[in-house]
Amino acid sequence: MTAELYRLYFVNRHSKFVIRHSLLHPLPGTYALVFRAKRKKRLIIGKLGILKLQPGYYVYVGSAFGPGGLRARIGHHRKSSSRHHWHIDYLSEYLAPDEVWYTHDPTHREHHWSEVLSHTAGASIPLPGFGSSDCRCISHLYFFSSRPSGNYFRRKIHAGVDGHARIFAEKFLDINSISDIH
Ligand SMILES: [Zn+2]
Repeated sequence: MTAELYRLYFVNRHSKFVIRHSLLHPLPGTYALVFRAKRKKRLIIGKLGILKLQPGYYVYVGSAFGPGGLRARIGHHRKSSSRHHWHIDYLSEYLAPDEVWYTHDPTHREHHWSEVLSHTAGASIPLPGFGSSDCRCISHLYFFSSRPSGNYFRRKIHAGVDGHARIFAEKFLDINSISDIH
């Protein structure tokens, strides 16, 4: 893998976010998106039900093994008129992305990542079934009242899986607060 750096944008209806120097390649892999919620809100998540947002952090685990890989999935631009395809689309439309943890490991790791998150201190399940319609996990979305630690998460994953590829953690910046990006 080359060390090529990308600029990765994430757009929702409220703002635009960027990772200026990302190693996130257009290759397959597994990711966890950490979102920050600043206020309470009731969100209808398609047919699944109502998610009562609380101030804190929401961590969503997914994978991208289609064209464009992780980069296309994480950097996908949300137009307010487009239809929601994934449960996460309902959330990412409203919440600010804080951080992304990801790996280009060629094995699907999302269910294991989800399990590790479920056993992390402070984790709760805000809406059972979120992102887990096609697997046995109770949920692929977890809530934390304070910011979850990417370093702790990476240590737990590497301790539990032999040969797991490297896990990266990169922070999003709110583009409205940056002056040197056009
Ligand atoms: Zn799962």
